[in-house]
Amino acid sequence: MTKKRTALVTGSTSGIGKAIAERFAAGGADVILSGFGDADAIEADRAALAASAGVEVGYSGADLTDPEAIAEMMAMAEVDFGGVDILVNNAGIQHVSPIEDFPARKWDLIIALNLTAAFHTIRLAMPHMKQQGWGRIINTASAHALVASPFKSAYVAAKHGIAGLTKTIALEGAEFGVRCNAICPGYVYTPLVEGQIADTAKSRGMTEDEVKRDVLLAAQPTKEFVTSEQVAAMAAFLISPDGDQINGAMMQIDGGWVAH
Ligand code: NAD
Repeated sequence: MTKKRTALVTGSTSGIGKAIAERFAAGGADVILSGFGDADAIEADRAALAASAGVEVGYSGADLTDPEAIAEMMAMAEVDFGGVDILVNNAGIQHVSPIEDFPARKWDLIIALNLTAAFHTIRLAMPHMKQQGWGRIINTASAHALVASPFKSAYVAAKHGIAGLTKTIALEGAEFGVRCNAICPGYVYTPLVEGQIADTAKSRGMTEDEVKRDVLLAAQPTKEFVTSEQVAAMAAFLISPDGDQINGAMMQIDGGWVAH
């Protein structure tokens, strides 16, 4: 990275977002962390990352389902960091249920966080990016931005929506030095998934290996998890000069899932 950049990575107190934030900081970018969790643990992680990478690391605990909280987070980024040069819309949640039982409140929350939050962060980051003639937007989508699975109606709808948003912004930013791409992971081994494995093994009377292979990785041909670090490496490539002509792409990293 030649010029000092500021990267806002939403949902970076855990999992994929945390790995992306760490990778960007290691590459020399100032980073703004976002997400929920234990305040002391987040502050310890924030300080450790700043010290190890030698960059500025900020934090926002904004609830990204709330447009006003998003506006406050973006204003903080402007005041404390001079604006967001690299925006990673990564925060996301899941709920699994047949459509007839799907709680309407869960639908609203998933659409608000997994899709609408990205609309707000992008609309607020775009003026700075366009004005300086450089910006990178990465949306953590999913294999579910390209194919569906049953019982995940809100998640699949939001992720297909983020695919459309990604392509639209790619066209709007193209002549202004702004690039917008989506990363589409299959199953990634994050703390969230780790918990699911233990729970499913218990509730179905299976071993954890059986759950991984026959339940979670049933659709993932390699039968191996993607790692958060592999997703972060793809994100690092997208913001590097080698990624300059990648725009509006759905970058699959799914062990062959969507090749089915
Ligand atoms: P995770 O649960 O480990 O992390 C989610 C992050 O979002 C956390 O930092 C959490 O605090 C934050 N968050 C949750 N609700 C929030 C809210 N209302 N406001 C602000 N922040 C909030 O999850 P992960 O597995 O790292 O997933 C990250 C992204 O990757 C999500 O968009 C998810 O859909 C996507 N993804 C994950 C997988 C997978 O297998 N783990 C696969 C494909 C796509």
